Amino acid sequence: MVVTGDIKKVRAFSKKCREKGRLVGFIPTMGSLHEGHLSLVKRAKEECDFLVVSIFVNSFQFGSKENYRRYPRNIKKDSRLLRAEGINLLFFPQVNVIYPPEFSVYVEETDLSRVLCGKSRSGHFRGVCTILTKLFNIVEPDTAYFGRKDYQQALIAERLARDLNFSIKIRILPIVREKDNLAISSRNVHLKDKERKDSVCLYEALSMARKLIREGERNSKVILNKMQRIIMSRDSAKIDYIEIVNAGNLEKTERIKGKILIVLAVYIKNIRLIDNIIINVK
Ligand code: AMP
Repeated sequence: MVVTGDIKKVRAFSKKCREKGRLVGFIPTMGSLHEGHLSLVKRAKEECDFLVVSIFVNSFQFGSKENYRRYPRNIKKDSRLLRAEGINLLFFPQVNVIYPPEFSVYVEETDLSRVLCGKSRSGHFRGVCTILTKLFNIVEPDTAYFGRKDYQQALIAERLARDLNFSIKIRILPIVREKDNLAISSRNVHLKDKERKDSVCLYEALSMARKLIREGERNSKVILNKMQRIIMSRDSAKIDYIEIVNAGNLEKTERIKGKILIVLAVYIKNIRLIDNIIINVK
């Protein structure tokens, strides 16, 4: 595995692959890798010939009150995991390589970004779209892999690729969970014992919603109320948002119909966790 922070080197590798007709698969990450990330790596391995992973904690997607410095970093362990998976190239750039002094061009998606995490984390998706545009231009992959855990991000990545004419296929893969169904996240390391126990309330609320829909409930308000009650029964939990939206355009739905996304963001003490399920209702 080649490890580099050099943009020119990455471009040269990718170019060589494409000239040989090899498919380049790309997994953008912020590191502190876990089974969720590795599921993307494994799928990319099945579908592509040359695998590139990037690790870059993107300060531009953290809000002013969010702790960018506290985001977990573990490059040694990450390199070990990626080497074991047979990754060809790890792009691990320094901040000033990605954002040189006087950096002043940003990319903004203006539709899907207005709701959910975009609403409660102002500027977040501007940061995401800017870094993805840069990484797509540097790596020039055939396919880029995203997790459904960050469903809104994955949808915005699809829109970005479509609207800015990147000829990159965007693949969105299922959420990998712990044994108790907590969605695996790099932030979970910050959860202490009691908080870790409380954190299962996100999935409990989603499961309750699924059960109600299976039993025939079609009123979103009724479902959201019951979900709220589950979350609020845990004393370390504070709701950021819980919503039921159309899975294609993220618009709120009052009646449950078609392909819907039930999605929530909850603070467990001061750790912000997100989760979602998709349900197809005929
Ligand atoms: P991050 O390092 O948190 O920016 O995540 C990098 C990629 O891994 C994103 O596309 C995430 O959606 C994906 N990812 C993170 N956690 C999971 C998970 N538990 N299951 C599936 N994909 C995940």
